[in-house]
Amino acid sequence: MGFTKTEAIVLRTKELREADSLITLYTRDWGKVQVVAKGLRKVKARYGASLEMFTHNQVMLFSKTDKDMARLTGCQVMHPFYSLRESYFKYGMASYLLELVDKFSEYREANQDIFNLLGKSFSLMDAGVLQTRENYLSLWNWFVLKILDYSGYKISLESCIQCKEKPALNKPVVFSLPDGGITCRACLKSQDYLFELNTEVWTKLRLLQKSALPQLLDIDLAVETKLAIKILLEKYLQFISGHSFNCQEFFYTAANKS
Ligand SMILES: [Zn+2]
Repeated sequence: MGFTKTEAIVLRTKELREADSLITLYTRDWGKVQVVAKGLRKVKARYGASLEMFTHNQVMLFSKTDKDMARLTGCQVMHPFYSLRESYFKYGMASYLLELVDKFSEYREANQDIFNLLGKSFSLMDAGVLQTRENYLSLWNWFVLKILDYSGYKISLESCIQCKEKPALNKPVVFSLPDGGITCRACLKSQDYLFELNTEVWTKLRLLQKSALPQLLDIDLAVETKLAIKILLEKYLQFISGHSFNCQEFFYTAANKS
C-alpha cells in the first residue's frame, strides 16, 4: 500500500488500550482496511467527528506492506451523513447496511461496486426522500439483491438453476436456499430449505434485481410483497452466512412513518 489517498466510509470503531482505537474503514481502492488511531482523543481533536460510523471521508493512509495495519495520516470529511443518526430507525437501517458490507467484503480487496452501493444508499437516506418505512424496506431489499450480486452470491431468478428451463410466468415457483435460486419441481433434490414464491413476489424480485437506484421508488410494490421479499432475503443471508445479523431486530414493522 505505501502512502495512499482514497475515499472511505467508517464501518466501525473499537476502543483499544491506552486510548488507542481500531477503526475499520470501507475504502474505494482497498476494500476493507483496519487502521489504528493512536491516542483517539488527540486524533478526534485533529479530525473532529470524521471517525464516527457512517462518515464518508477522503483519507490518507500508510502501511509498509499489504498485511500491516494501516496508519491514518490525513482525513477530510466529504459527507458527514449526520441525519443517519437522527432517529433510531435511520440509525438501525444504516448500521444494518454497514453490517452487510462488513460481512460481504474482504480486507484489502477493492470492490468499487460495493463502495458505490453503500455511498449512494447513504446519500439517498440522507436526502430525506425515503420518508416512510415502506420505502426503507424497498431500499433494504434492493441493497441486499445488489450486494449479493457484487460479492458473487447473485441469486438466480430467471430459470431453473439445475436444468435452465424457464418456468411458466403465471405459476408460483420454488426457491431453494442451498441452490441460491429457483428450481423446477422435476429438479428438486430435497424438501428442505424451500420457499414457494407467488407470481407477484417472483416478478417483483426480478424487477428489483435489474433496477437501478433512481428507479427504486417508482416500482409499484404492495407492503405484503415487500415483506415477503425481505423474509426470503433474510433467510437466504442467514443460510449463506450461517448466522443472523445483529441489526436485524429493529426492522420488523413497515407500517409506521419513520
Ligand atoms: Zn429444472
